[in-house]
Amino acid sequence: MKILVINAGSSSLKYQLIDMENESVLAKGGCERIGIPGGKLIHKAHGETFTFEQEMPSHTDAIALVLEKLVDKTAGVIKSMDEIDAVGHRVVASGEAFKKPTLVDDDVMVTMEEIAELAPLHNPAAILGVNACRKVMPGKKMVLVFDTSFHATMPDYAYMYAIDYDDYKTYKVRRYGAHGTSHKYVAGEAAKFLKKDLADLNLITCHLGNGSSISAVKGGVCIDTSMGFTPLAGVPMGTRSGDIDVAAIDFLCNKKGMSIDEGLTYLNKKCGMLGISGVSSDFRDLAAAKAEGNDRARLALDMFAYGCKKYLGAYMAVLGGLDAIVFTAGIGENTPDVRAAVVEGLEAFGIEIDREKNEFKNDGTIHDISGAGSRVRILVIPTNEEIMIARETAALL
Ligand code: ADP
Repeated sequence: MKILVINAGSSSLKYQLIDMENESVLAKGGCERIGIPGGKLIHKAHGETFTFEQEMPSHTDAIALVLEKLVDKTAGVIKSMDEIDAVGHRVVASGEAFKKPTLVDDDVMVTMEEIAELAPLHNPAAILGVNACRKVMPGKKMVLVFDTSFHATMPDYAYMYAIDYDDYKTYKVRRYGAHGTSHKYVAGEAAKFLKKDLADLNLITCHLGNGSSISAVKGGVCIDTSMGFTPLAGVPMGTRSGDIDVAAIDFLCNKKGMSIDEGLTYLNKKCGMLGISGVSSDFRDLAAAKAEGNDRARLALDMFAYGCKKYLGAYMAVLGGLDAIVFTAGIGENTPDVRAAVVEGLEAFGIEIDREKNEFKNDGTIHDISGAGSRVRILVIPTNEEIMIARETAALL
């Protein structure tokens, strides 16, 4: 079975064609500048990179171009579109409307339009991607795979905010979480690596990238996660503040003459590591600045590690025990200093990192960086959201 995985943004579209026989990626790539002059498709197949400069006024044009290249004599990997068994679409937010991956039909797309406001920066783009695929590949089975699905299992007392209950019922304001596909993938891979049944494991999965989220996973089921109604909540991130007393926002908006919208843009784009350090949102730049003695870069990194550590403590408590901590995503996979800072001082809880093992060079494989005496295993697992979307799509079919 071959699954085409699509991740549509407002002016970009990433894709992978995956052969589920052995989960190999036959081709992958991305369209840039959809609807903007200067369109470009970068397509990787047969170990080569092909670049096509072509205008793509709409997502439909982008998908049509991708399909053209997938069946192309030189750059292609399949003979015809019939070889694609289904399409899996990444969708950021599901609200309470979809708890699981869902087969696309007209009714589902009506609901998608209704919940678009929950993720105004992401879901409308996903809708464009699905509609474009339905136009170019009529009749092809398509599945929506939501970033929020994995968190749909949280108990009510974990996902609720302590607001007026009627307002929750009316407006569905609650914790939804994000990065669920990644958390689910690494949890599954951790169980395989540890040669244990996922149902028997208590895990804390740390997806640390530009956006960061931490989840408590009990027996393969997510019971809590750090992101909230939107991805703004939780640990401080590249440019997002993470958890903050909302009253401070009202105060800041008044002082700085910002509207609520501007205040939210400020919290999403100008805060976090960038706001604290004044240097960058990128952890590589922060590490370099800290090494040169920049104290605000040091402070940003300390705040990040401290924020993550507090979630580890909270989630050890809600899990009632811990078998493994999993680090993944750009920072989790590539930044030994951050991993060490997050887990240091937790020896009393059976968490010990092996400093030498922690310094491994990322080679795309799983690394166990636990110390010899560590009761809790500390794993670094490269995430693979596309494979997970393809698996979910195949499973539903
Ligand atoms: P996104 O949320 O945009 O997917 P990533 O998971 O790519 O983000 O994470 C980006 C972060 O990972 C940046 O802060 C970057 O500094 C950090 N990072 C550190 N080393 C690397 C590396 N070798 N490759 C990519 N990102 C890295």
